Amino acid sequence: METYPVEWISLTPAEEMAEREYDVLIAGSGAGGAAVLRRLAEQWGGSGRKIGMLEAGDLLLPTHAQNLPTVTADRVVSELFARMSTPLGDRLPDYPDAKLTFGLGGRTLFWTGGTPRMPACETADWPLSRQELDTYYGLAEQAMHVTDGFAAGSALQTLLLSRLRENGFPQAADLPMAVRLDAARSGMLSAGSLFSSIDHLAYAQYRLPFDLAARARVTEVLLEGGRAAGVKAVCGGRAHVIHARTVVLAAGGFITPQILLQSGVPGAAIGRYLTNHSTVRATGRLLGTAAAGPPEGPAVIQLPQTAEAPYQLQLFGPAPHYAYPPEHPAPRGKAVDVQMNGFARVESRPENRIYLDPLQLDEDGVPLLQVAFSRCERDLEAIERTAQTLRRTADALGLSLEEADGASPPRTLPPGDDNHEACTCRMGRHPDNSAADPYGQIHGVPGLYVADNSMLPSIGAANPTLTTAALAFRTADYIAERDNG
Ligand SMILES: Cc1cc2nc3c(=O)[nH]c(=O)nc-3n(C[C@H](O)[C@H](O)[C@H](O)COP(=O)(O)OP(=O)(O)OC[C@H]3O[C@@H](n4cnc5c(N)ncnc54)[C@H](O)[C@@H]3O)c2cc1C
Repeated sequence: METYPVEWISLTPAEEMAEREYDVLIAGSGAGGAAVLRRLAEQWGGSGRKIGMLEAGDLLLPTHAQNLPTVTADRVVSELFARMSTPLGDRLPDYPDAKLTFGLGGRTLFWTGGTPRMPACETADWPLSRQELDTYYGLAEQAMHVTDGFAAGSALQTLLLSRLRENGFPQAADLPMAVRLDAARSGMLSAGSLFSSIDHLAYAQYRLPFDLAARARVTEVLLEGGRAAGVKAVCGGRAHVIHARTVVLAAGGFITPQILLQSGVPGAAIGRYLTNHSTVRATGRLLGTAAAGPPEGPAVIQLPQTAEAPYQLQLFGPAPHYAYPPEHPAPRGKAVDVQMNGFARVESRPENRIYLDPLQLDEDGVPLLQVAFSRCERDLEAIERTAQTLRRTADALGLSLEEADGASPPRTLPPGDDNHEACTCRMGRHPDNSAADPYGQIHGVPGLYVADNSMLPSIGAANPTLTTAALAFRTADYIAERDNG
């Protein structure tokens, strides 16, 4: 039987890339790396500039898993993501639910698409003005098709929102989702309702063709005269040196600092300030009346973080089918389950960190990463307040909380379950407490940037990806501006 190449996107072998010189080389094709690529292609379209992207993983899926007609929301996490990610927890006692995903598109192939902005109370100390951040939020929302309209107006959404607002939660709102509501229109056909960074790669490809190598793992950044000069990448067991004037690391909150530490890039804050969310979770059950069943979904709702409330609550219903393919029968029953996810804010502290284990090397000779992480008093207080609010919310909604594994709800999940590890190369003004400058450029190393969750100064209680995309767009603009000038 023949086997056929599965290149639904053009690939360039790493050895060919080693013969070229790039204006910009991007490591990683997830939420951050693909956003940089998209924005540079938009700025530089037709200019003949050369961009290369190196992706450690393979071509896993051509779109978000949930855009496939055979896949439902619950299968994405329980089966596909479980199989297409590597659990690290056995080696990381402080971070037992850590996982890595290697593949074109990164974790945006599996994410839920929740895209709230960070509240102003969280970003007040960030090294850019809120006005500028809001401008980039607008650009990222447009590029990722962020909408409040995914569930707006459904019977379940309307009922839950009105019960919340009438019973002490006036701030309850539609959760913004990165979902294309117009998947087919005026000659345009799209296989992608739910955003993945493959959409960014496609956008870039039509404006400024770029070289992409898959299964090409960046292991080191190369510096010449103190500035970025390229990377070392391992592909099929062979190491290649690929030259570039600008290097953008976007390999995620764990691997980006690992590459920098392995490369000996100086910076006291590299790998430090590991920040995430403490997940507090429960399932609430809403019964229908004798006359009618429960209202039909979907419902996706948020109670946002505020200056007084260091947490965000998100509701998804009916669980697990708040989103399902058109071919799947509509979920109906005597009761509706609502998944309640609380994200409690975690302090950014230098002692929570990624570091290299000098005694354990992987197959490419790179030291394995290790994590030191603990929850401080304020983190524990935030967890307690999140759990209290989750219970009060359930009361306001008339939901009965379901026991999970014999424990009374809600449950606080171990570090790593959120998949939101961030801030390990955070941006800031001073090298003592930040790895990168306010544009994501590593302090003191011209031409070397980070552009993924690691660059966030803090993450508050909001899901991080929209903010990472917004800041990655801004980093791309900064790179383009300096290069043009
Ligand atoms: C089930 C699930 C649900 C989620 N839901 C949400 C949500 O609703 N909202 C939200 O904001 N976030 C959500 N997230 C988190 C979201 O996916 C991440 O915040 C986001 O993808 C992080 O972007 P990133 O660029 O930092 O990393 P990633 O998207 O993980 O991308 C990193 C990329 O780098 C590649 N790579 C790694 N090492 C190397 C190397 N050495 N060389 C080259 N390439 C490398 C990887 O293969 C990958 O492509 C969810 C995640 C999961 C798993």
